[in-house]
Amino acid sequence: MEFISTRGKCKVSSAAEAIVKGLADDGGLFVPATFPDFSGKLGSLCELDYPELACEVLHSYLEEYDKQKLLDACKKAYAKFDDSPAPIVKIDEKYYIMELFHGPTLAFKDIALTILPYLLREGANICGLRDEILILVATSGDTGKAALEGFKDAEGIKINVFYPSDGVSDMQKLQMRTQEGNNVNVVAVKGNFDDCQTAVKKIFSDKGIETELKKNGIVLSSANSINFGRLAPQITYYFSAYFDLVNSNEIKLGDKVDFVVPTGNFGDILAGYYAKKMGLPVGKLVCASNSNNVLTEFFNNGTYNSDREFYKTISPSMDILISSNLERLLFEIGGRNAEETATLMQQLKTDKRYTVSKKEKAILDEEFYADFCDEEECKETIADFFEENGYVLDTHTAVAVNVSDSYIGFTGSDKAVVILSTANPYKFSQNVLNAITGKQVKDAFSASIQLNQVSAMEIPKQISELQEKQVRFNEIIDKTETFIAIKEFLNIK
Ligand SMILES: *Cc1c(COP(=O)(O)O)cnc(C)c1O
Repeated sequence: MEFISTRGKCKVSSAAEAIVKGLADDGGLFVPATFPDFSGKLGSLCELDYPELACEVLHSYLEEYDKQKLLDACKKAYAKFDDSPAPIVKIDEKYYIMELFHGPTLAFKDIALTILPYLLREGANICGLRDEILILVATSGDTGKAALEGFKDAEGIKINVFYPSDGVSDMQKLQMRTQEGNNVNVVAVKGNFDDCQTAVKKIFSDKGIETELKKNGIVLSSANSINFGRLAPQITYYFSAYFDLVNSNEIKLGDKVDFVVPTGNFGDILAGYYAKKMGLPVGKLVCASNSNNVLTEFFNNGTYNSDREFYKTISPSMDILISSNLERLLFEIGGRNAEETATLMQQLKTDKRYTVSKKEKAILDEEFYADFCDEEECKETIADFFEENGYVLDTHTAVAVNVSDSYIGFTGSDKAVVILSTANPYKFSQNVLNAITGKQVKDAFSASIQLNQVSAMEIPKQISELQEKQVRFNEIIDKTETFIAIKEFLNIK
């Protein structure tokens, strides 16, 4: 399948090329030339297990990949989960939580990042690329660890992760700084996630850097959700959630289901929009934000305004002012008008804001609902939900649960609702414990033990093992020094 840039100046002839390149040369994001249509075969897809379903979804875009090999890779990737990759927990009538945190690093990003190394390596083979691939990641916390774990010791690939020095939880930081593997590097960048992401994006668009790396036999690629290879595997769990509900007689095939998504860079929820485009009966996609509510404002009045205060919250993976993947949505609601998308992105860069047309705003209203909650509401939600259901929410999922109340209350919707749970609460143990008990505990590990005592929820071994691991990475740099750090890592003079 052909992939085109959201800014219209370039296209590539295969998904393999889109995945290897990561970002289009004109600065846009790659999108599929068309959406595969699954509407006629939902009944038969219902019967597949998760890896088989993932293979069907992926292969509908990644047509040039060998299907049997792709299936084997999906089986191998999803065997790394301690359960099904996306089990559904019924909380109440028509109210479900989809747990996406059963992977190696306890966050939903594992679902894409356990399979992405295969998609990338195989993609490079398909493109006849001989160079070594360098993966650059800017992370708000969970992507970094999931990417490091996915790519560690992968042949022909190196990975360098940058995280904001003051923007990730203690547990997230420790998870990254203790990373094993002979092809990995982890560096803290002074500032917040947007500083970090902008610094990394600059490297991607710098032709001089590209040439210099190429001379050393290295090409850049990205494991951030701007890469289509990150996005595509996330489409699968919208289908699997839907089929699970059908197979357990909670809904009938054809009924619409709403999904509530705790949102940051807009990758997760965009995958839901793509699933809908492919024919899945999705009702509303509910975009839940924390105090960094730039998306709430955008969906509610049509203006995206990134010129605002940045809040450091207890849901750090959603602390984002520039949601990169929104560009892919703008492209769709504008009727795939690349020129317009490019103009809006230019306005965002120069004026820090843009406004969509009335017609586009109407499409947003039809497809989405958006709201946010602040820190106090987030904590209250964790406490109330635990008291009512005996179920522990992490700080990100709690934002979604809070917004789902607002959504159901405001619209009176009686459709089945699935909340996407994006992280295991033990990744944010101090704040979750604080929400439930009011206790302030500084150390993440003692907070985990206390949370376990209060909730009886098992502490994952990935967390308890962390305490014994050696810290390998200590470097903190200025955002202007990212390429210097990369050259040191690669031993380039
Ligand atoms: C990354 C992340 C999010 C936000 O997902 P996006 O795809 O960036 O919108 C939400 N919650 C957790 C725990 C995450 O790691």
